[in-house]
Amino acid sequence: SKVNENKEYYEIMEEAHNYYKEEMFKNTARDALEYLSKRKINPKLIKENEIGYAPNEWTGLYDYLIKKGFEKKKIFDLGLAKENEKGIYDAFRNRIIFPIYSVSGKIIAFGGRSLEDSKDIPKYINSQETPIFSKGKNLYGFIQKGSNIKKKNYSILMEGYMDVLSSHSYGFDVALAPLGTALTEEQAHLLKKYTNNVILSFDMDEAGQKATERSILILKSAGFNIRVLLYKDAKDPDDYLKKYGKEAFLKVVKDSLEAFDYLYLRYSSEYSLEDHMSKQNFINRFKDFFQCLESDLERSLYIDKLGKSLNIELDVLKSILITNNKKRI
Ligand code: ATP
Ligand code: MN
Ligand code: MN
Ligand code: MN
Repeated sequence: SKVNENKEYYEIMEEAHNYYKEEMFKNTARDALEYLSKRKINPKLIKENEIGYAPNEWTGLYDYLIKKGFEKKKIFDLGLAKENEKGIYDAFRNRIIFPIYSVSGKIIAFGGRSLEDSKDIPKYINSQETPIFSKGKNLYGFIQKGSNIKKKNYSILMEGYMDVLSSHSYGFDVALAPLGTALTEEQAHLLKKYTNNVILSFDMDEAGQKATERSILILKSAGFNIRVLLYKDAKDPDDYLKKYGKEAFLKVVKDSLEAFDYLYLRYSSEYSLEDHMSKQNFINRFKDFFQCLESDLERSLYIDKLGKSLNIELDVLKSILITNNKKRI
């Protein structure tokens, strides 16, 4: 049956995780430990977050799992090993391994970071879609941070594993990451179980800011209160925390912008707002956002703000921005 089949998949993932964890504390993992220490991930954090190491071997994991009696086909189904004309090889080699848990606490995937920053190999590899893992349905850190998020009644969404881990080590134990995809509706609903309040803290590059814009629509459609964190002179939250520390980060959290104000800032950098076409295009940029709003009060507050700052009559703005068909994101 499907349930029994999945049971074996989960067992294999757990054994693979055991293997990666054991490898982390062998002599052969010296480079990995050094890399992590350089990135301020100490042994305590490694243990707490059950981080592992995939050694620089072709079939280390594969041999280990076969020895445990698991079937080749299942190991391949999980994407843990692959095969080409030269033979079988482990998918994750010489990489730091981050375990990804399902909502019920089972290991369903891994993320692997290369020890080198080289153009020839991908910096990150994540598990492919498998019978027990589909992207966009889980959040990195969700199992461990759930109770903190509930208690503190907010979460911070970041792009990557390292951002979440760094935040944790600096005392921000409510950070989660959507795992290399743009935030999905399913992830938003998952988070909704614990809080209505989200701070978006993606990377400050254009990719990160695009993801922020997209995530605002998804989170708004799910009824969240959203703030956006902006910072200078750092690539991402991990980088920022290491350069400027906890107090500085607290300050940028405090200075974070309400989602509408963030969009206003972003869009106003794109248009001169000097002629009517430019104003029209600027206003059009808000259409998706307005269609995601659940509350009449919010809609009217934002229409007011736009009207005042652009010096445009509210009825005109309403006729552009408030339509009767609600958009599904
Ligand atoms: P680091 O700080 O380790 O250099 P990062 O987390 O800042 O990495 P980004 O390039 O900002 O890396 O990517 C953010 C996240 O997106 C990563 O943590 C990872 O989950 C995912 N990601 C990045 N590159 C890839 C890739 N090539 N394939 C799959 N996922 C990726
Ligand atoms: Mn990025
Ligand atoms: Mn980074
Ligand atoms: Mn980054």
